[in-house]
Amino acid sequence: MPKPTKAELNKYKKLLQSHLASLRGDVGSMRDEALRASEQDSSVDHLADQGTDNYDQSFLLGLIENEEETIQMIEESLDRIDGDGEQPYGMCLFCADDPSMCRRKQQKGKKHDPWIPKERLEYIPWARNCVESQAGLEQDREIA
Ligand SMILES: [Zn+2]
Repeated sequence: MPKPTKAELNKYKKLLQSHLASLRGDVGSMRDEALRASEQDSSVDHLADQGTDNYDQSFLLGLIENEEETIQMIEESLDRIDGDGEQPYGMCLFCADDPSMCRRKQQKGKKHDPWIPKERLEYIPWARNCVESQAGLEQDREIA
């Protein structure tokens, strides 16, 4: 897998920016909703409904947390595209660090290729590792 070209980097950058914009919008409106739910809880005295309100709120807060994590990964990817990260964008952080962890077929006598396949980057442009490294890591965790 060759290193991404300038044109490809621009494409991923646009993808990342549009994901970021929609996630930020989502998190903003979910936070408003969670806030509204907690305000209602304290002002209105209806014990029967309180259980479900609390449930909704923690569910929303969980979603917000997940989305905030994705937002962070997107911001980090954008930094890497701009050359501000430790590794260039599109490189698998695990393969770059320890190619022996990767389950991707390695060509004999050749240096292991650390670039994440394009199909994966198009699907998850904030990916920091290749699928095969992820599989290797999970397998190790199961053994341990
Ligand atoms: Zn990898």
